[in-house]
Amino acid sequence: MQEFVYAAQSVRVVFGVDVWSKLNTEAGLLGAEKALVLCTPRQRTLAQRALDALAERGAGIYDQAIMHVPTAAVQGAMAAVARTAADCIVAIGGGSTIGLAKALALESGLPILAVPTTYSGSEMTSIYGVTEGGVKKTGKDRRALPRTVIYDPTLTLKLPFDISVASGMNAIAHAAEGLYAQDGNPVLALMSEEGIRAMASGLRQLKKQPDELGARSESLYGAWLCGTVLGSTGMALHHKLCHTLGGSFNLPHAQTHSIVLPHAMAYNAVSAERAMQRISNALERPGQPAAMALYDLAQELGAPLALRDIGMRAADIDRAADMAASKPYWNPRPVDRDGIRALLQAAFEGIRPA
Ligand code: NAD
Repeated sequence: MQEFVYAAQSVRVVFGVDVWSKLNTEAGLLGAEKALVLCTPRQRTLAQRALDALAERGAGIYDQAIMHVPTAAVQGAMAAVARTAADCIVAIGGGSTIGLAKALALESGLPILAVPTTYSGSEMTSIYGVTEGGVKKTGKDRRALPRTVIYDPTLTLKLPFDISVASGMNAIAHAAEGLYAQDGNPVLALMSEEGIRAMASGLRQLKKQPDELGARSESLYGAWLCGTVLGSTGMALHHKLCHTLGGSFNLPHAQTHSIVLPHAMAYNAVSAERAMQRISNALERPGQPAAMALYDLAQELGAPLALRDIGMRAADIDRAADMAASKPYWNPRPVDRDGIRALLQAAFEGIRPA
């Protein structure tokens, strides 16, 4: 067996239907006396319910979380911390809200209690990002890792199906790259395979009935597993490409992941055969190439399939290929500019990987 290191992350995970009723108790276990609730403007009503549940432990709400964590939002949240003398951050929402909580934790040193309401998996990682002047700086810092995560599928019942699919495919991407990560290990490989299986199965059920609690539970369980893999391993070509496309061409994060994933898997297939078999098995398509199985899943779920359909311009393909090939990073198959150019062209047109 290949040599490996396994270092478990110390996050307390509370999972189940209606467990978010334990919010006050869980905040108390973190020693919180004044918890500031973060949310997007759209999730203000839910944040108010969280504040009510926190009772005397609630400090207030900051509702200006937006995608890619602009510095202005971090400064606004810091002012809210100072105004309310908050000693804990409760982030209720998706990766955008949790991203703001991470940036705030780095600035303030406060612990995070995360209550995710999408499937993007950010709550299980110490990866943070802040955007200033159109440039997103990212990094890893233990202080950005939530101390407690409450997963309650009832909070995802109203998550629109298209956002469910996009954030769910984003989660599958974490687990897929975790299966061939340079620093992977057998436990994370098990989590990856089970995470992909649960997410694909959950999303397929949600297509028939988007408010089915069992399917919501299965998808959220998949999100936890896939997020744990992202938080524990280094990512490769797929994540680097999506970071470039999102950051430099302003493409929507989760949809970009969903479109690029089959093509990145097709590129890496020759160098990661066992990982591809495990992905195909998890998608219940044993024997089929993983790239095709992922493309077919996205198509079955009605996800966008072509970068041109989410705002990419043909004129930008060459620049994106240059950028993706310019900085060296580990990938199971060496990154060459012509190969990346062809991958991006296929993703731009939305062609089923051969
Ligand atoms: P999001 O947080 O941007 O949310 C998308 C929209 O859905 C928002 O308007 C939000 O208010 C709304 N929403 C969220 N939950 C809802 C619910 N249950 N019901 C109704 N509406 C709801 O989406 P996301 O895909 O979770 O996050 C994307 C961001 O997360 C990106 O900026 C990405 O970079 C980041 N991310 C970070 C990591 C990490 O490890 N740091 C991992 C994955 C994603």
